[in-house]
Amino acid sequence: MKAKISGKTLELILGDITEQATDAIANAANSRLAGGGGVDGAIHRAAGPTLANECARIGGCPTGSAVATGAGNLKARYVFHAVGPIWRGGGQDEAKLLAGAYRKCLELAEEKSCKSIAFPSISTGVYAYPLEQAASVALGEVAEQLARSAGKLHRAVFVLFDGATLAAYETALRELARKRKDLQLD
Ligand code: ADP
Repeated sequence: MKAKISGKTLELILGDITEQATDAIANAANSRLAGGGGVDGAIHRAAGPTLANECARIGGCPTGSAVATGAGNLKARYVFHAVGPIWRGGGQDEAKLLAGAYRKCLELAEEKSCKSIAFPSISTGVYAYPLEQAASVALGEVAEQLARSAGKLHRAVFVLFDGATLAAYETALRELARKRKDLQLD
């Protein structure tokens, strides 16, 4: 599914984020940048050891933010290690922190003159953020930042790993298109 917002593209696809040729790839990292399972493990395996070395040098990242490294053997130029919140029932600023993680990635993308960026579904795996709510926060934030962007960034793609996650993001994107007059579904 694809949408247009102020001349930029917001796209949802089923796939493996490690295979994306976007300028930047966002990772769902932990705050110690220590490497883990899920998408983080897949990105580190595909990128090679330079990624863990760079992460160790940086040392950590607060929840709700992101840090940039190179991308080792990946096709991308950068990996933005974004730290989403662990779901603790919704009363611990989870939505704000999740939006912050996406926002910081888009800021890093602008700073590094990226034209395109790929995102996984941050926090909806081991961190157990309810999928429908996470999809709504993620797309709301990315759409808002794309709408505001005056830089080079023209494409953001969510690379979703299974059918249920893709379906939840598709529902959330349709919902967002009803709310935002500047967002048109293709
Ligand atoms: P978190 O700890 O932030 O919840 P996870 O890695 O556990 O992160 O899960 C986040 C999402 O990433 C889940 O939807 C999971 O299915 C997905 N995922 C796992 N591997 C990949 C991959 N190679 N490409 C894209 N998404 C992936």
